[in-house]
Amino acid sequence: MAQNYDVLVIGAGPAGYVAAIKAAQLGLSTACIDKWIDATGKPSLGGTCLNVGCIPSKALLDSSHKYAEAQKGFKAHGISTGEISIDVTAMIKRKELIIKKLTTGIKGLFKANGVTSLAGSGRIVAANQVEFVDHEGATEVITADNIIIATGSVPIDIPPTPVNGETIVDNEGALAFQSVPGKVGVIGAGVIGLELGSVWSRLGSEVVILEALDSFLPMVDQQIAKDVQKNFKKQKLDIRLGARVTGSEVKGDQVTVQYADAEGDQEMTFDKLIVAVGRKPYTDNLFDDSLGIKRDERGFIQVNGQCRTDVPGIFAIGDVVRGPMLAHKGSEEGVMVAELIADKIAQVNYDLIPSVIYTHPEIAWVGKTEEQLKAESVEYNVGTFPFAAIGRAQAANDTAGMVKILADKETDRVLGIHIFGPSAGDLTQQGVIAMEFGASAEDLAMTVFAHPTLSEAVHEAALAVNGHAIHIPNK
Ligand code: FAD
Ligand code: AMP
Repeated sequence: MAQNYDVLVIGAGPAGYVAAIKAAQLGLSTACIDKWIDATGKPSLGGTCLNVGCIPSKALLDSSHKYAEAQKGFKAHGISTGEISIDVTAMIKRKELIIKKLTTGIKGLFKANGVTSLAGSGRIVAANQVEFVDHEGATEVITADNIIIATGSVPIDIPPTPVNGETIVDNEGALAFQSVPGKVGVIGAGVIGLELGSVWSRLGSEVVILEALDSFLPMVDQQIAKDVQKNFKKQKLDIRLGARVTGSEVKGDQVTVQYADAEGDQEMTFDKLIVAVGRKPYTDNLFDDSLGIKRDERGFIQVNGQCRTDVPGIFAIGDVVRGPMLAHKGSEEGVMVAELIADKIAQVNYDLIPSVIYTHPEIAWVGKTEEQLKAESVEYNVGTFPFAAIGRAQAANDTAGMVKILADKETDRVLGIHIFGPSAGDLTQQGVIAMEFGASAEDLAMTVFAHPTLSEAVHEAALAVNGHAIHIPNK
């Protein structure tokens, strides 16, 4: 009879592997099953995030940013380089090495913390039993007092453009092109579409992004979204809104896409087509509905605020449950659930989960947008400040964008921070910390910010909330 664990986690993405490590650190006997196999046929921990998501996309975003800077940005600093070229194979190899380092790192963390790592797939067969099938096909039933489902998500495939891994790809394929395609189509102007479109556009592809919705980045504060849209146009990212893809035809090594926009039916031919129309929760072959774990109409496992399913002892975390599909959201849920299992008091503050789009400049935000506050009839003050008026941004020749802070009209409590600009992701984190501590705009305004830093834009925006900005441009 196999060992009974206190905790058995299914899925070793950022939700599952963090849950497993935390549970083990709390003294619970823990195992984690994961079935990911990498391109070389070996098991790899870290899920979507480390293998084909957050990390590889950022590796290529950084490589392509450096390339674009060398091509277009150095001149302003007086640097000339001669002809610049990109070795795509070397760039992709660097990305693979980073993945290897980080996924092996999780293996090491499991070992160091005493988590039993099981490579293969798991299926819940009873409230405290999981059938584990390893990669050689050997099967055993593992028992556990608590089961944490962290099986994540997979890309949505739409019927008009079935992914074939060659001309039509999803995120995984788009992170592995071996040369710079001449013309790239991207379906979906969401976070993933914009990031992957940016990578190949910077490297020289002509990129067209087709987006069915008429509005651009509807989840982003619309003042910021408008600023972003203008900037991306200048960067020659061709984003077509109100363009719904209806069909495609692969001919040789090209794909012709049919789409409908306000002017009628259109057609465009690409060397590569990236389908980035969102992700769906993944629960294939994970349990039988008779077990009592419920899914909503979109396939997300139903959980309460503590990530408990309807079956006692079975939790679900990460992309497979409601909430933003973000690595850090899943990791925090993993910590919370491990602590709850260890009888501790724990919670996740779902109101303060930051979002970042890693384009250049970055787009990042936390809390409420102006549109949300209006819809909720909350009265607010707004403070904005452009990076163009920030000395450090001038010094770096990186002056696009602004910081926008929204604060409650009566209490001055910060309700939202929205940034488009250099290092927006890191700058927004200052707002997350402030908001976590219930800061007012005045609290931020009275804080000393080092000079010259990009953070001064946060300071000035906080001052601007109550009309006190010092370096007010255009006045
Ligand atoms: P996953 O990471 O999907 O991991 C689930 C794991 O479970 C997988 O390894 C899977 O093989 C395994 N599994 C599934 N079923 C079973 C089973 N039955 N038995 C055994 N194992 C199983 N988020 C960010 O926060 N920041 C970013 O910058 C960011 N960039 C992204 C870029 C791209 C291109 C993509 C695609 C996603 C990005 N995301 C980003 C989203 C992020 O990757 C996900 O939110 C995150 O990976 C979700 O974590 P998870 O642990 O819930 O699931
Ligand atoms: P996200 O869910 O943020 O990754 O964004 C995916 C985007 O893809 C959404 O903005 C959708 O409107 C868009 N989308 C979905 N289906 C289509 C389609 N057939 N044609 C164009 N855009 C689409």
